[in-house]
Amino acid sequence: MVMGELPENVDIAIVGGGVGGYVAAIRAAELGKSVALVEKEKLGGHCLNYACIPSKTLIHISDIFYAAKNSEKFGIHADNVMLDAKKMYEWRMAVSKKLEEGVAYLCKMNQIDVFNGTATFMSASRLQLSNGVELDFKNAIIATGSVPTPMQGFEIDGKSVLDYKQALMLDYVPKSMAIIGAGYVSVEIGMLYAKLGANVSIVARSDVLSRFDREAVAVIKKKMAELGIKVYAGVTPASRDGTAVKLSDGTTLSSDIIVVAVGLVPYTDGLGLENTKVERDQKGFVKVDNSLRTAENGIFAIGDVAGEPMLAHKAMRQGVVAAEIAAGMQVSYDNKVVPAVIFSDPEIAIAGRIEEGDGIAVKKFPLTALGRAIAFGETSGFVKIAYDNSGLVKGVEIVSPDANAMIAEAALAIEMGATVDDMAETIHPHPTFSEAVQEAAEAAAGKPTHFFYGR
Ligand SMILES: Cc1cc2nc3c(=O)[nH]c(=O)nc-3n(C[C@H](O)[C@H](O)[C@H](O)COP(=O)(O)OP(=O)(O)OC[C@H]3O[C@@H](n4cnc5c(N)ncnc54)[C@H](O)[C@@H]3O)c2cc1C
Repeated sequence: MVMGELPENVDIAIVGGGVGGYVAAIRAAELGKSVALVEKEKLGGHCLNYACIPSKTLIHISDIFYAAKNSEKFGIHADNVMLDAKKMYEWRMAVSKKLEEGVAYLCKMNQIDVFNGTATFMSASRLQLSNGVELDFKNAIIATGSVPTPMQGFEIDGKSVLDYKQALMLDYVPKSMAIIGAGYVSVEIGMLYAKLGANVSIVARSDVLSRFDREAVAVIKKKMAELGIKVYAGVTPASRDGTAVKLSDGTTLSSDIIVVAVGLVPYTDGLGLENTKVERDQKGFVKVDNSLRTAENGIFAIGDVAGEPMLAHKAMRQGVVAAEIAAGMQVSYDNKVVPAVIFSDPEIAIAGRIEEGDGIAVKKFPLTALGRAIAFGETSGFVKIAYDNSGLVKGVEIVSPDANAMIAEAALAIEMGATVDDMAETIHPHPTFSEAVQEAAEAAAGKPTHFFYGR
């Protein structure tokens, strides 16, 4: 359809085909609604194409490479372990492509109209697309995500100063890499390139992973040091001359490339929100209530653009909820926890809160006492469990291989109001890292087995 023709009519128009947007589209279609999904770049959005999936793909490859070169303690001596970085790049790109095609297939099978173009609200019921299409809708869902926070003096040029997207699209391993920022994205990118052989430096305004439990972070910092990663903590980049970065304490950091990873900001550029009553907060997030409704009747917002935490699984859950509400169901976004995983080595995974005090106690089980961890030579982590006076589980933190998979149990326990006894009495398969969760729960319930806490 072109300009001048009648607008197309749909029940639900979704702006942004990332993990939030396409999941909302599928759910709305399942509920019998006519759905238009507008995406200006690639289906799957940042998560599948530039962020979550590419980073985890490369982390997996770096783990294999690193393990191949560092397994003498198991009696494995592998000479001449070589990395073909071009092949690694091809694999990483092929994974995103396969997933993007998978999303396109699901849209097709669910009879979702996918439009390639940029959408702008002309009013509270009409979108103008950059390809000329006009879309009239009963409900709309904004799922436009986020973009990297820009940094003055460190403008991205794609060659020597890269953002996270570009850092995850290299077909070579740089000799050295300076990463500005020390959140989870920096740690993941830093550890993966260090494992592939790069000399990595991280510049941290306060410290690495400053918002996380220091005991957990200490485990990661120890591994970072083993990998040769240098952390410049408590400093900021003052100026730049090419790829030489002058820090606020006078130190000059020289490297082949600079990666700027100082956070994400919600993305609403060109969206035409001024033509609606949709409001944004001071940080630029679209304001929503617990039904994910904006201030404009019939327009919802989900995912990164709708606030913290900026995580893919939160976007997907919100996509389902927004679609169900738009389709007339009586539900709300009322999840108790959004689990988070840092894919460091070892991984850190958290659900809920693990701070002690105010009627909350915390028990810790160390991996030094776990059979599987000893077998793998991976004993530096632990599981912490937080619970209240009645034994209700309030939070779980896991520092361990496989923490990414183990944390779902904790999220389910908190959502369902499980107690430490429930978790302790649930049979966990042996020998697995998941037993560490059970062991921590047993300790919390006053009946520890494989660790002596004293009488
Ligand atoms: C390096 C990195 C690693 C990450 N790893 C993880 C991880 O392991 N796990 C995790 O949970 N999260 C991770 N995240 C966060 C995760 O990527 C985001 O939370 C997630 O992508 C948010 O999904 P979304 O649907 O809200 O937005 P996005 O995935 O950003 O999708 C938004 C889409 O909207 C499109 N769009 C924007 N404006 C318009 C418009 N006007 N018209 C049409 N289309 C438009 C964009 O092109 C984009 O495709 C990571 C982030 C980074 C940077």
